Amino acid sequence: MKRVYNFNPGPATLPLEVLQEAQAEFLNFDNSGMSVLEISHRAKPYEKIHNQAKADILELMGLGEDYEVLFIQGGASLQFAMIPLNFATKENPGSYALSGTFSSNAYKEAEILGVGEIAASTKNENFCRVPTQAELKISKNAAYFHICNNNTIYGTEYHYVPETGGVPLFADMSSDMLSRPWDFKKFDLIYAGVQKNLGPAGVVIVVAKKSLIEKSLETLPTMLRYDTFYKKNSLYNTPPAFSIYMVGKVVKWIKNCGGLAEMAKRNSKKAEILYAVIDDSNGFYRGHAEKGSRSFMNVTFRLPNEDLEKKFVAQALENNLSGVKGHRSVGGMRASIYNAMTLEGVETLADFMKNFCRQNS
Ligand SMILES: *Cc1c(COP(=O)(O)O)cnc(C)c1O
Repeated sequence: MKRVYNFNPGPATLPLEVLQEAQAEFLNFDNSGMSVLEISHRAKPYEKIHNQAKADILELMGLGEDYEVLFIQGGASLQFAMIPLNFATKENPGSYALSGTFSSNAYKEAEILGVGEIAASTKNENFCRVPTQAELKISKNAAYFHICNNNTIYGTEYHYVPETGGVPLFADMSSDMLSRPWDFKKFDLIYAGVQKNLGPAGVVIVVAKKSLIEKSLETLPTMLRYDTFYKKNSLYNTPPAFSIYMVGKVVKWIKNCGGLAEMAKRNSKKAEILYAVIDDSNGFYRGHAEKGSRSFMNVTFRLPNEDLEKKFVAQALENNLSGVKGHRSVGGMRASIYNAMTLEGVETLADFMKNFCRQNS
């Protein structure tokens, strides 16, 4: 069986061990005589998976009883709307730092509702960095301050936790959730579509302070209220059971590897290898991100011209390196090197990049 090194941004590569484990128990899950796709979400074996995944996520993040884990469908994109619907008003708007496509999309939903403000933006630098602390202009009366922790498309990442002056801190961590130890306690609400770093598409993990989500506006429809998910243990309606089952396995895999400290060690090593190739290429490869904002998850770079970029993608694929084409808004290449990307995969890409540079410069 031939498997490629998968550098796609999402859905993305998953740990081989996890896929094999799921395959092995696919037809007969937990001696039920059914696959996990077929069992009731009210059945005991499913409940075990669901609650264990929640507990493991909190444990990895070092969060306690004051936080709750929710499983919600609709992607991170629905969170862009649910957040202002649940928390922002005209008097207390949501405040947004714009650092790329997804944070801009998040702001757009608040804008539609007339409850958004912009605290900072790096748009006129083509989002080559995240805003600095000094640039953040957060209104005192803001309901929350929202950031996108890792900008999947532009390849930039926050390497500091913003100080908000008491305004609740919210973050889209879709593409770097559980990739490194982080001061999660400083955040009031974190969400992540799992298809980047934590599982297959179909579910968003929301980790929020209980005090924030225990009561939602009475005027909101049931499925748009956080308290619906909180009060019913994310089982008000049928959850995406298979996605949650897979997330549970990935989270267990992270724990078995040594937790977030070990993930960070592996991820920074992988990122350093690729950034070193870029920096040592005499300008053949040009990184999109400013050095201080470089992402450990998505490495973005351009080549001297578009013909070479096309050639790079084609030859990469011949070398078993799949998914390296960048997003159209940045152009060039993007190597997504989430938790499950192996060091071997990154070293193969680095060798390929060095050879390609030698042959074409
Ligand atoms: C992919 C991505 C999204 C969009 O996620 P969907 O689940 O497709 O809605 C939002 N934010 C970030 C940071 C992403 O990487």
